Amino acid sequence: MRLLEGRSIADRIKVQISQDIQKLGLKPILVSIQIGENAAAEVYVKSQNKTADSLGIEYKFYKLDQATSEDELIQFIQRLNSDEQVNGIIIQMPLPSQIDYKKISQFILPEKDIEGMHPANIGKIPFGKARLIPCTPLAVMELLNETGIDLYGKEVVIVGHSEIVGKPLALLLLDKFATVTVCHIGTSQAGKLEGHVRYAEILIVAVGKAGLIKGEWIRQGAIVIDVGINRLGDKIVGDVEFEEAAKRASWITPVPGGVGPLTVVMLMRNLLEATKLQLHL
Ligand code: NDP
Repeated sequence: MRLLEGRSIADRIKVQISQDIQKLGLKPILVSIQIGENAAAEVYVKSQNKTADSLGIEYKFYKLDQATSEDELIQFIQRLNSDEQVNGIIIQMPLPSQIDYKKISQFILPEKDIEGMHPANIGKIPFGKARLIPCTPLAVMELLNETGIDLYGKEVVIVGHSEIVGKPLALLLLDKFATVTVCHIGTSQAGKLEGHVRYAEILIVAVGKAGLIKGEWIRQGAIVIDVGINRLGDKIVGDVEFEEAAKRASWITPVPGGVGPLTVVMLMRNLLEATKLQLHL
């Protein structure tokens, strides 16, 4: 078994991003918006800010009031859309209940949508033409690339079908001619999750339930990528029972230290891509 760690890959990609930014000859600006107080969002903001600083990116952070309405947030976004200095916009999750992320994300100019969630960006993925793609699926693709595996014809099982992870990832993998099965709550409720997982040559899990995937279900020699983040007391664990799974897997991501460190770097790579788009490069 080999550990599939994100940090060393992230460091390599950071060198490339920072060289590309130097070539642009400007300091790109990323605007991050948080609504209200939230401990989880603050952890992400801190990590994004640190990564941006290390790459020569200006990270501008705005914390809006907890009671901000959708209309107020839309107006705020529209000001950023028309500000030529701003290259990328990210809205931190979770959001207060009065704000619907799916609605709000459509108001970010597609060229500044560094999370790749605007329908104009998501809609390009099936055609293999997207330049701004959601960060976590990009991180997973980088991890798979690191293993050296040829995805052509491989049995890939994704558990979790969210708009931000499972669905776009399935399309990226299809583009590489993998045979993709996407499992979700319906699969579990039909009692079929274990059967699919046992068949996977590559297993990617993005649910957010500790211990959902039993270690003994892992196929001998499988590659296991655990996207899940679950807080158990003062420990952070994934969705896969790590110790048992590690006995069977050929490669497995640790949690933390697998997908997470790469996701934040993919956000910065998207900012670079967004800046290039705005410069018609
Ligand atoms: P969502 O809650 O949006 O999606 C979870 C998915 O899991 C849904 O498709 C849901 O199906 C499915 N699901 C729920 N219960 C089961 C079950 N028992 N069996 C099978 N499928 C199930 O979460 P996200 O996609 O945003 O995130 C998933 C996890 O990944 C979280 O732990 C999150 O913290 C983590 N994450 C980590 C990142 C990183 O950088 N490491 C980045 C992004 C996310 P349904 O909707 O039908 O209920």
